[in-house]
Amino acid sequence: MKPVILTGLRANNDLTIGNYLGAILPMIDMAKSKAGEYQVNMFVPDLHSFTTPIDHAQLQEQIMHNLRVFVAAGLPIDHDDVYVYRQSYISAHSELTWILDCFTGFGEMNRMTQFKDKSAKLNEDRISIGLFNYPVLMAADILLYNASYVPVGDDQTQHLEFTRDIATRMNNQFGELFAVPLAVPKQHEFFGKDQGLRVRDLMEPTKKMSKSDETGKGVVFLSDTPEAATKKVMSATTDSFGEVKFDMKERPGISNLLQILALLSNRPQNEVNAEWEGKTSYGDLKKAVAEVVSTFLTDFQARLAGVDDQTLLAKLEASETAMQSVAGQTLYKAQSAVGLRPKV
Ligand code: ATP
Ligand code: MG
Repeated sequence: MKPVILTGLRANNDLTIGNYLGAILPMIDMAKSKAGEYQVNMFVPDLHSFTTPIDHAQLQEQIMHNLRVFVAAGLPIDHDDVYVYRQSYISAHSELTWILDCFTGFGEMNRMTQFKDKSAKLNEDRISIGLFNYPVLMAADILLYNASYVPVGDDQTQHLEFTRDIATRMNNQFGELFAVPLAVPKQHEFFGKDQGLRVRDLMEPTKKMSKSDETGKGVVFLSDTPEAATKKVMSATTDSFGEVKFDMKERPGISNLLQILALLSNRPQNEVNAEWEGKTSYGDLKKAVAEVVSTFLTDFQARLAGVDDQTLLAKLEASETAMQSVAGQTLYKAQSAVGLRPKV
């Protein structure tokens, strides 16, 4: 069995450059350089899509769109070790979640900062148990495939730690059921980073850029026109220091722009910083960022328009069949451990 690298992106809205840079690109770099040595699972966690309210009439198209985004971003779907699938097509995700639910403490979920942040933005009657519970579904997503490497942005650290906790708890009680994914610092090491990436909202750079942001004014979506994205970049919040300096803590707005510039132009951060630090025109920096963002969007959208649905659907079906079998085996072990099936 090859070690598994796994990631998913919720299909609740169009994806952003934060999702692209923080989750899609690192995963695709892995798929390109390591498929052969590793198994790469990139999936659409469609069951996670409506933990917060969405327009359900759009969901089917959103799911297919996100899958096309993976391909447009460069996922090598012709490789045998690369699997793309829709979570809800593999019923083991739901079934294992229920089992894990019954071994998860209420207090444990109640400590999740994502739940606190997301529920704070909803009316009380719209806060669903699904939103409360989704880290357990996420744990099932990972544990069903014995994934060791799960590249997540900084916002998902707590959920990955929970996955390790619940896997260890089940293993302690029932014997070796699940592979425990690597601890977060080891994940960063594997992906060649010293920490998780956090692209900031352009209007409110103390917050992360989020696809479900209410206004979307500080969010660059992958489907934004270059003109719309340029407007957003040009009106990004900066600071009153009047001199460019990379300092995420004290100057998150400017530093976020420098970060986007480095990532999208594929240059080392310190090289970009050295070029800009000490300059006094924030407008010039914004123009440079708007330019790389526009070029990126134009290229990306052209690649997206060229994705072949037939090839994608054939790959999906083959992957889903293969993953039903893998996930089914892990589920059976768990069912057997808790006494729902005869001993294996
Ligand atoms: P939502 O607001 O709906 O939660 P999101 O933008 O946070 O949307 P998710 O589907 O929750 O997106 O996350 C998908 C992946 O993208 C995760 O691995 C997450 O860590 C990563 N990610 C999300 N936002 C950012 C960001 N601003 N910077 C870097 N990575 C990010
Ligand atoms: Mg999120």
